Amino acid sequence: MAVIPVNIAGRPYEVRVGTGLVRDIAAQCAGLLRKQGVPIITDENVHAAWGDAVEASLRAAGHIPLWRILPAGEQTKSWDELAASVNWLLEHEVERGDHIIALGGGVIGDLTGFCAAVLKRGCKFIQVPTTLLAQVDSSVGGKTAINTPAGKNLVGAFHQPSLVLADLAVLDTLPRREVLAGYAEVVKYGLIDDADFFTWCENNAAAMLDGEPRFRETAVAHSVAAKARIVAEDEFETTGKRALLNLGHTFGHALEAETGFSSRLLHGEGVALGMVLAARYSARLGLMDSAEAERVATHIAAVGLPASIAALELGCNGETLVRHMLHDKKMDAGTLPFLLMRGIGRTYLDKSVALDDVAAFLDL
Ligand code: NAD
Ligand code: ZN
Repeated sequence: MAVIPVNIAGRPYEVRVGTGLVRDIAAQCAGLLRKQGVPIITDENVHAAWGDAVEASLRAAGHIPLWRILPAGEQTKSWDELAASVNWLLEHEVERGDHIIALGGGVIGDLTGFCAAVLKRGCKFIQVPTTLLAQVDSSVGGKTAINTPAGKNLVGAFHQPSLVLADLAVLDTLPRREVLAGYAEVVKYGLIDDADFFTWCENNAAAMLDGEPRFRETAVAHSVAAKARIVAEDEFETTGKRALLNLGHTFGHALEAETGFSSRLLHGEGVALGMVLAARYSARLGLMDSAEAERVATHIAAVGLPASIAALELGCNGETLVRHMLHDKKMDAGTLPFLLMRGIGRTYLDKSVALDDVAAFLDL
């Protein structure tokens, strides 16, 4: 097991990365859980795959689990579900010092974290991320949120968990497509500021994605450490460092918007292609060697993620995609900052990108 200490704004906690943590959840959370009624928020898929294991571990240690099993999917991150879940926690007399367990992917983590942030002005919670994306991204950093009719993640709070348990065994039941989508965020850390890690990904991704435990642990632990380091430097997104985590996301969100945020394109798939586009656009601007940009594209394609817009068969032009970008919440005083690369591992925020040039590039 790898233990990554995280310390954001003076709130230290551990991210444990290892195999079998969910089956051992009671011992992993020793001293943190109340005896009667341990609140666990999860979704139907995760409950079907891992509910029995959690139930058995908690009961063997003398705890009574209290389950809240929500529909799987993004629509669960809603005002209605926030209200219903907070009311449920209040009905079960959850107090400020109690811990709520978030057992699931980013949807469950974001919703449960937000419930914990507002319940009694802030109670405690434990993240048990069950998707690769949640393990390497959403469970670390303290961002919690719900979606509103005006857009995704527009209402939320910064609220850090007490503990994160990233169990590599739970990835065995995760559909391959979801594993791949999460992997896009793993590669991202290499591209941001760690060229050696990108090389590691090139060499080991195939075995990692096939479930090789040592490689899984390295990929997750390394990603968590990278995210923790970047977030700790810029917890409230003031210095611009945290913005680097959005590499590939401006292009990616535009593609997601074009598909109506549907299952046609998962977030990680959009990010994967977005990173390829960021690399190729950086090459077009002469910032990055085109051979290096193609190295990014080759790796993304090799693992089975989308590496060209044509492959998506969206039937839209560059102008349409740029229009989606203009609706992006990261617009800053009339300009759209772009994350570009001076090379692999050398991502930076560029504020001088001409949007008509981006549209022309996307039309190619
Ligand atoms: P998700 O939570 O919807 O999970 C994806 C699917 O996998 C769901 O159908 C779920 O039921 C299923 N699933 C989860 N774990 C499983 C398992 N072990 N076995 C079988 N099935 C399993 O999606 P996600 O990709 O984990 O998270 C996406 C969400 O994360 C978005 O709402 C996004 O906004 C949010 N996010 C938040 C942050 C942050 O910093 N807070 C960062 C990135 C993304
Ligand atoms: Zn992302």
